[in-house]
Amino acid sequence: MQPERIVVKIGTSSLVTGGRLDPHKADALAASVADLTHSGLRPVLVTSGAIAQGRTVLGSGGAGEEGLRLAAAVGQGPLFEAFRAGLARRGLTAAQFLFTPLDLCDDRHRDGLRSALDHALGRGVVPVVNENDAVQVRNNDILAALLSVLLRARLLALLTDVRGLYGSDPRTDPGARLIPEAKGMTVELERLAGSSAAGPGTGGMISKLGAVWIATLAGVTAAIADAHEPRVLSRLLGGESVGTLVHPRDTVREHGLEPLWRAFSTPPRGTVVCRPAARHVIDAGGPVPLPLVARTEGSFTAGDVVDVAVDGTSPIARGRTRLGALSLAEALSADDADDATVLHPSEYVSLLEAC
Ligand code: GLU
Repeated sequence: MQPERIVVKIGTSSLVTGGRLDPHKADALAASVADLTHSGLRPVLVTSGAIAQGRTVLGSGGAGEEGLRLAAAVGQGPLFEAFRAGLARRGLTAAQFLFTPLDLCDDRHRDGLRSALDHALGRGVVPVVNENDAVQVRNNDILAALLSVLLRARLLALLTDVRGLYGSDPRTDPGARLIPEAKGMTVELERLAGSSAAGPGTGGMISKLGAVWIATLAGVTAAIADAHEPRVLSRLLGGESVGTLVHPRDTVREHGLEPLWRAFSTPPRGTVVCRPAARHVIDAGGPVPLPLVARTEGSFTAGDVVDVAVDGTSPIARGRTRLGALSLAEALSADDADDATVLHPSEYVSLLEAC
């Protein structure tokens, strides 16, 4: 049996002090990752921080969309070096991997990447991953989740600067309670935790929910925990209650990486309410055609993420719509509504198990 893989993702805010990459924080994480390797596991580190680091060098040159990409390109070297050196001090070799979710959607890129990662892990080399931000800045939570699915990891550990998911907003509710554990992600848990997203990671918590969806729907346990909890990784792996742990359900469907990415890279902007027959279509993984749509809720445009629901139920699917709310309304009021595809199977994920 091959050693278990662990995908550890750390956010910028947990790695910087005063806007600058903090070598002590990077070294502490390198030490924890090295401990995992030495104990026989195969960690993959997904780290942000390139943009923040690059901006300290570029100053105003790091502003705007182009500046962001340049900052990432400037900062990536020092970011990798911090981890490379920290791992080398502990006798380990690091390998830098930069890619985007689109690489995971392309068969040849994905297979090439997987075999390079397999080769690294097989030799005890520690992959240090970041999104290739010079190509497109998106989101490392989602990238890490997709990677945990690709590598069939035992755990996706999302390390951040909040303790985990809360059932209410800890900024306004002193009695807010941390959710220690859940079986399967649900729309209800998402609402509860999403509305309580706290601290500097507010936007980040939303993307962590997307990451938890991706991992758990595909059978990987996901954890959200405070990066600065002592021995956070070994405690998580030892079964201690640290942060929030979301286990996959007992029954897991096969999902492609592309639909997982399309469905959870951003939160849904509305709902396509369908006739009951849509349930069978989604169960069979077919395209959702226009005649099955009854109405829409919310304002969304083509390419946005939407939920698919049947009246009175929680969402039965989530994915990228090919038609915006206005076009859908127009098409639905036309006498001769065609059977255009609203959601294509490569762009949505069934939530029937999560309902
Ligand atoms: N990959 C970016 C960085 O290294 C940040 C994207 C993210 O935080 O998810 O700075």
